[in-house]
Amino acid sequence: METLEKAPAKLNLSLDALFRHLDGDPEWRMVMTAIDLADYVHIETRDDSNGIQVQTNTGFLPQDQRNLAFQAAKKLQEQFQIDQGVMITIDKHIPVSAGMGGGSADAAAVLRGLNKLWNLNQSLMDLARIGLEIDSDVPFCVYSCPALVEGKGEKITPLNDLTSLWFVVAKPKASVSTPTILKQIDFSEIQHLNVESVVEAIQQQDWKQLTASMGNSLEPITIQKYPEIIRIKEKMVKFGAEAAQMSGTGPTVFGISTKQSRAQHIYNSLRGFCKEVYLVRPFNLKNCN
Ligand code: ATP
Repeated sequence: METLEKAPAKLNLSLDALFRHLDGDPEWRMVMTAIDLADYVHIETRDDSNGIQVQTNTGFLPQDQRNLAFQAAKKLQEQFQIDQGVMITIDKHIPVSAGMGGGSADAAAVLRGLNKLWNLNQSLMDLARIGLEIDSDVPFCVYSCPALVEGKGEKITPLNDLTSLWFVVAKPKASVSTPTILKQIDFSEIQHLNVESVVEAIQQQDWKQLTASMGNSLEPITIQKYPEIIRIKEKMVKFGAEAAQMSGTGPTVFGISTKQSRAQHIYNSLRGFCKEVYLVRPFNLKNCN
């Protein structure tokens, strides 16, 4: 038995960290969307062994228990006492260590795929709960629809579609370690955001309000080490983006436009400065899981 799951990347339209829990995890308040830049995860169950094997088309990703897709399969095998192996083949397109949740997207794809192949009958909410044990972005990736994300990542409130928006996504050369950035958050200094205004803007499809209230509280931390982020943001705005900001812990920067022609212009112009640039649309509710 086999299945092919699409694993879309995410962007943070708003990202605020409210406080640190006793275990060190931040309390999040974020608005996220999935985009049509995606990995493809092929999952095949195996009767000849109960092992988990992962292969990818990149040379540098772990293929053992350090791979989040492996961890997702292991969790389901253990929790539901499944005595069947699985071969996971990841066709990787999402830039790695970029703030786009690529590993979490792959893990969520494995949870959804094996839920079907092993007839586990778990709801998306159940899969999201299991996914939270792997990474804070996995619950969102299980749904992959525009959402307000709270708690340690487990509280997902779906929002309206972002139908009229285009995103230009630029990944600078640097790779950022998420745990390193999270350790550096100083909760007495962090600038909090009006996340509610972003939620309201999406619900009312008011793109002016959206672009005026977006933000990422972690930007100053990552920018300290990678000032290139500021230069890309400035270029995005200069070429016509209605807003530009970092996604997740970075270093990926994305710009927004409500017009396809303007987004295309930003994309063409940025390709002269940054090697990895994508012109993408949001993943909307009809494509969501
Ligand atoms: P986030 O914003 O959720 O922290 P990210 O986009 O910054 O994610 P990822 O691309 O998910 O980062 O990769 C982060 C780390 O996870 C890397 O060190 C990578 O080796 C590891 N990793 C494990 N499994 C995967 C996977 N399937 N795809 C990508 N990275 C993976």
